[in-house]
Amino acid sequence: MSVDLIQALTDIVGEKGMLTGSDVSQRPDAWMGAATCQAKAIVRPASTEELSAVMKLCHQNDQTVTTHGGVTGLVGGTLSQPSDIVVSLERMRNIIEVDEQNRTLTAEAGVTLQAIQEAAEAAELFYPVDLGARGSATIGGNIATNAGGNRVLRYGMTRDSVLGLEAVLADGTVISSMSKVIKNNTGYDLRQLFVGSEGTLGIVTRAVLRLRAKPQGEATALVAVERFADLSKLLSLAEAGLSGGLSSFEVMWNDFYSLVTSFERHKAPLEASSPFYVILETQGKSNELEQARLEELLGEALEQELISDAILTQSVSERDKVWAIRDDIEALFSLAPLHGFDVSLPIAAMDDYLRKLRKQLLERWPDSACIVFGHLGDGNLHIIIGKIPSEDKKAVERLVYGGLAPLGGSISAEHGIGYEKKPYLCCSRSDAEIALMRTLKQAMDPKKLLNRGKVFD
Ligand SMILES: Cc1cc2nc3c(=O)[nH]c(=O)nc-3n(C[C@H](O)[C@H](O)[C@H](O)COP(=O)(O)OP(=O)(O)OC[C@H]3O[C@@H](n4cnc5c(N)ncnc54)[C@H](O)[C@@H]3O)c2cc1C
Repeated sequence: MSVDLIQALTDIVGEKGMLTGSDVSQRPDAWMGAATCQAKAIVRPASTEELSAVMKLCHQNDQTVTTHGGVTGLVGGTLSQPSDIVVSLERMRNIIEVDEQNRTLTAEAGVTLQAIQEAAEAAELFYPVDLGARGSATIGGNIATNAGGNRVLRYGMTRDSVLGLEAVLADGTVISSMSKVIKNNTGYDLRQLFVGSEGTLGIVTRAVLRLRAKPQGEATALVAVERFADLSKLLSLAEAGLSGGLSSFEVMWNDFYSLVTSFERHKAPLEASSPFYVILETQGKSNELEQARLEELLGEALEQELISDAILTQSVSERDKVWAIRDDIEALFSLAPLHGFDVSLPIAAMDDYLRKLRKQLLERWPDSACIVFGHLGDGNLHIIIGKIPSEDKKAVERLVYGGLAPLGGSISAEHGIGYEKKPYLCCSRSDAEIALMRTLKQAMDPKKLLNRGKVFD
């Protein structure tokens, strides 16, 4: 980058908006804390207009650009090269409007997910997307990765909460589709083009988000299930029996439940002798109503022999203890070195896929462990493979991903492709699909300036 370009960019964003030298190399990651950023500069525009001018200049100078939101992504999507400039949305943190009548929230892309949730809550409304990195992850990053999280079963992924969107293209053109309406069938749905595009087609600057009615009560149960086939029957029963109130259906395979509850910090609410455990949660009008509905459902499930045991939590602290089992990722570190996967596949194919995978793993690494849990209702499994040396990472990846292709599964249920999963995109997408992605990229960013080297590039 010539000094003139840095100066010209500084002229646009001001001294406050420009970081160079050790401010770049020593900048800690929001999530991991390590200083890993390599770039000639970090440019921090304060408005869409500034970003548009920045991109216009970069385009004229063939300058590659990597976009940063909260840098909590898990697939290397924010990785930059020393020759890149990074565009960070951290100075675009305004919540522009909470529209109670239309139940929408309009925000700049650098607003954190938590700030969005809190602003909705302050208006007695609810933004349903939720994930562990809520305090750092931004709404722009959530949109770029189509983030999922804990409530997808009921409310869908980020895609389902984006009504309108504004983005700046590689040449600085501003595309503004800031609609507040749910139904808008007027030609191609351009906003959805940017959702999940991982910063390769444009930089999201603002969004109109759909808010929902705030649930006033909830109830939570932990149940034991003896047969895999009963899991989907139980899911159907719960979806029908809870009148659309089912918000979580989290399955823990015995290996996960046994391992986590073997730690002293947990007391197993149910004996660890069943092959599957499910956390069921329903949200609705009041705690009493949800408790009664869930109790009735558990009675029916017991009668139909879909579950063998159950506890219905009676207090917030009991509920938290059940969720603490599901969320205790730290317990898995006892099996290090770990290889973690977040995949999806049709529910009907899961049991066979996992049996085959476990067999293959044990044949090659007899001491290995394969721990499984996930959002079964979304077809999403977290597979944690332990006690296999890090140098065998590629061989493990080939086993996990290779088995998904014939089943129509996805190598990335939530986090995208980024840099890390690029070699395996072909396990989930056909040549024709990848060719169409390339055509779109060529049309929108022919110089390949945005997030070069990511997704399929
Ligand atoms: C503890 C933890 C739990 C997590 N749980 C979940 C989960 O349950 N579900 C889930 O889906 N993810 C989860 N994640 C992953 C991560 O939080 C999400 O991918 C999140 O959406 C990333 O947001 P971000 O602002 O940090 O984006 P970044 O990490 O900064 O960027 C991610 C990608 O989006 C691009 N990008 C960022 N901002 C923009 C923008 N404004 N315009 C265009 N492109 C942009 C980047 O270039 C990059 O390719 C988790 C991460 C952690 C650390």
